[in-house]
Amino acid sequence: MSWCGWGDPAKARELPEQVRGLLRDLLGVRAPHAPAATLESVRLPPVALTPAHLAALAGVVGAEHVRTGHEERVRHTRGKSTPDLLRLRAGDGSDAPDAVVLPGSHEEVAELLALCSRERVAVVPFGGGTSVVGGLAAARAGFAGVVALDLARLDRLRSVDAESMTAGFEPGVRAPDAERLLAAHGLTLGHFPQSFEYATLGGFAAARSSGQASAGYGRFDDMVVGLTLATPSGTLDLGRAPKSAAGPDLRQLVLGSEGAFGVITALRLRVRRAPAERAYEGWRFPSWRAGSAAVRALAQEGPVPTVLRLSDETETMIGLAEPDAIGAGGSGCLLVAGHEGASVAARRAAAGAVLARLGGEPLGEGPGRAWEHGRFSAPYLRDALLAAGATVETLETAGFWANLPRLYDAVRLALLGALGSPLVMCHISHVYETGASLYFTVVTPQNEDPVAQWERAKAEVNAAVVAAGGTISHHHGVGRDHRAAYAAEIGPLGAGVLRAVKARLDPAGILNPGVLVPED
Ligand SMILES: Cc1cc2nc3c(=O)[nH]c(=O)nc-3n(C[C@H](O)[C@H](O)[C@H](O)COP(=O)(O)OP(=O)(O)OC[C@H]3O[C@@H](n4cnc5c(N)ncnc54)[C@H](O)[C@@H]3O)c2cc1C
Repeated sequence: MSWCGWGDPAKARELPEQVRGLLRDLLGVRAPHAPAATLESVRLPPVALTPAHLAALAGVVGAEHVRTGHEERVRHTRGKSTPDLLRLRAGDGSDAPDAVVLPGSHEEVAELLALCSRERVAVVPFGGGTSVVGGLAAARAGFAGVVALDLARLDRLRSVDAESMTAGFEPGVRAPDAERLLAAHGLTLGHFPQSFEYATLGGFAAARSSGQASAGYGRFDDMVVGLTLATPSGTLDLGRAPKSAAGPDLRQLVLGSEGAFGVITALRLRVRRAPAERAYEGWRFPSWRAGSAAVRALAQEGPVPTVLRLSDETETMIGLAEPDAIGAGGSGCLLVAGHEGASVAARRAAAGAVLARLGGEPLGEGPGRAWEHGRFSAPYLRDALLAAGATVETLETAGFWANLPRLYDAVRLALLGALGSPLVMCHISHVYETGASLYFTVVTPQNEDPVAQWERAKAEVNAAVVAAGGTISHHHGVGRDHRAAYAAEIGPLGAGVLRAVKARLDPAGILNPGVLVPED
């Protein structure tokens, strides 16, 4: 993984000439104000943990699994949001952990949490490090130091129950490895977020992730049927049946808890048979309104495609749904429908009939295949845009169908108000009978302080989302960046409930301080 960008450096992308032209002529993008830092030149705070602390940590996991080297600390500094990347590119490593600790078992995690509680060392559970909401930047004030608890060694498939269609995993398994391990049994999770290449199963559960095929396979929290949480106060083992009427479902308290309540050390996940067939296709709608109505009809009447995605006019024009053909989009709104599993032809025909009835023009398999081919490549394009002097960032929300137009307008207006004339693109890619998520991509020229520039815009958007009745996140989570807006969303009583849970599970408050749980 690139230390200050996304993904495999070998897959780094050049900006196509059309895109350079668009950036220059349409947005006025110029080269960044300062050259990017090198990994060696990133400024880190001195290691605050004492030799006695480091020796105690090594006593639990072994000295080779306690790391304080410069590169290791830089690579565990924050996550992969655009401001995270901009800060590292500016050489700012001030949120670096003092040490990276790699436990090898649930028992070691539990022992580390007890040790860190005694010594008041903050602990940041670290999966793939792909958080885009500040979920990995703990507040260090009042602590003896900060440890990144990297779960990479907990990377095994523990069991497959083909009768119940579940699989038991450790939390540090990366998504491609999970798919590879399940494929050997003819199974799949069907969870394909854009961060697929690096994110982990524990991170998906902790941040309530949702993948590109969520219409067919569900969100990640739908897939979790059981889990184990190590906390400073003991272990929670949850989920002995798929559904239960035995009181509130405590699994729901752990899903989305972003490392603030404990460390997920095991997951039991619902799996599906690997699809025998796949077909992806494109449709064009004359307007966002017409396309949204068609998407809603499929979500409510069926058949619901496995992948269902509608780009607005701007996203369609830029061609963002097909990152390999950026700059070559068309008019109207592009809808991509993907069908996987059995009876694909019949489901495709039935869904096609609904889309055609509601004004869709079939474009055949070309756009669908292009989307499928480029589905993980957009984050690589972000690096090239950042280097060219453009800030590009994504943000997302969700709402009920009746409120979606208001939410769409509110976010766009907030971005236009805060950034002048940015490029704002949007798509719907997660649908429900009652509503959908809106996913925005923004491109704007960097000024001399691009982090502050983006933070101002983000604050405006957060306020607009809350005011327009949307949720502050459909699938990225809360982290630090959404904490205040989340507090507004759940109100003072809701915030108090979360603080009470945290106080019971983590009395010393060492777990991911500053993340998720609203301040008193
Ligand atoms: C380019 C890009 C594209 C993305 N696309 C999507 C997308 O399509 N859909 C989507 O849902 N998200 C997406 N994300 C966001 C991100 O990938 C998800 O939030 C993902 O769930 C994070 O997984 P991770 O393993 O990287 O977790 P991390 O980033 O390491 O951690 C995320 C949070 O969970 C906590 N945590 C991690 N592991 C554990 C554990 N075992 N126990 C307790 N707490 C833990 C961390 O402390 C942190 O607060 C994207 C991010 C990027 C950078």
